Amino acid sequence: MTYESQWADLRKRRNIFWFILLTYLPVVGLVVVLSRILSITPVSAAIAAVAWVVAYAVAAWRLASFRCPGCGGRYHVKGWWQNPLASRCLHCGLPKWVAE
Ligand SMILES: [Zn+2]
Repeated sequence: MTYESQWADLRKRRNIFWFILLTYLPVVGLVVVLSRILSITPVSAAIAAVAWVVAYAVAAWRLASFRCPGCGGRYHVKGWWQNPLASRCLHCGLPKWVAE
């Protein structure tokens, strides 16, 4: 049995997380600039900012809730400790991206 599908799921969750994190300022900034150019109230920028924060929270939760393919524990969370950049499972020590 290989862990390929689980790692693919983790890559997807990680990529979405980083995409949302890295596009926050450009997207909100673009909405602010467009609202000024189009003479629209800045409420649209606030809505975009809140929407991005909500999306970030959901993406962070999805990344943190990823289950280790080896032991079934939450890969990046152990008790109160969280490490979204962990290279090994915080429960069993399974290295990230290992084939089986
Ligand atoms: Zn594990």
